[in-house]
Amino acid sequence: MALLADYHTHSKYSRNGHGKGTVEENVRVAYEKGLRQIAITDHGFNQKAYGIRRCDIPNLKRDIADAMERYPIDVLLGIEANIISSKGDIDINDEDYKDLDILLCGFHRFVTASTRRERINFINKNIFCELMHHTTKKQIERNTNAYINAMRKYDIDIITHLNHGCKVDVEKVARVAKETNTLIELNGKRLGMSDNEILTCYRMGCKFVLSSDAHRPNRVGDCHLGLEAILRLRIPESAVVNYNDIPNLKKSKRKKRS
Ligand SMILES: [Zn+2]
Ligand SMILES: [Zn+2]
Repeated sequence: MALLADYHTHSKYSRNGHGKGTVEENVRVAYEKGLRQIAITDHGFNQKAYGIRRCDIPNLKRDIADAMERYPIDVLLGIEANIISSKGDIDINDEDYKDLDILLCGFHRFVTASTRRERINFINKNIFCELMHHTTKKQIERNTNAYINAMRKYDIDIITHLNHGCKVDVEKVARVAKETNTLIELNGKRLGMSDNEILTCYRMGCKFVLSSDAHRPNRVGDCHLGLEAILRLRIPESAVVNYNDIPNLKKSKRKKRS
């Protein structure tokens, strides 16, 4: 029984010391740990302090090509996009998407929202709710719609750390994740969801992906938090796409969701 792919890792292209390793270092660790696929998924463009820049994409492509020459492992180019509005806008446009093999999406606090109003109502209010350890019903509804709209508008492969910093109605999000064939991540650093919420996703028919969310090379492939949850909750292996299996997540290899 083994983990065969890690689709959520950050490299130095998550700038200003946020991601610690080079692409090659991440790939080497993945190879040494027996993975067959790894994705490099740095933070999206609207994370002004440490997101990847559009001008870095050609360099990232070159680094990935170099790493694949050195190690017999498939390396996917991805981005962990940010949700930047309650309407489900993300910080990746159609042109950007052409460069990607895989698209991840999650909520992060320090991003430029789509408008000033969204900065106040979506980003800042979520930061406030986290500080208060209480999310209002209205905010949960707003957040839930943000995720649902994002999954319907964009070809997102994986929703990262659901319910971390942005509380949603998990059942409603799970229903649309199932409908749009979007994977729910069990994050290696922070689960975000309670056991009950993970079970809700499972009962709604969602598939899970285990990932490390490594920000340094030695954490690549470290998915023990998610794995422990799967074992604890007796979720069958068949509900996890990268455990003893390799899904066709690479854009060029999979069928479009329509
Ligand atoms: Zn994240
Ligand atoms: Zn991440």
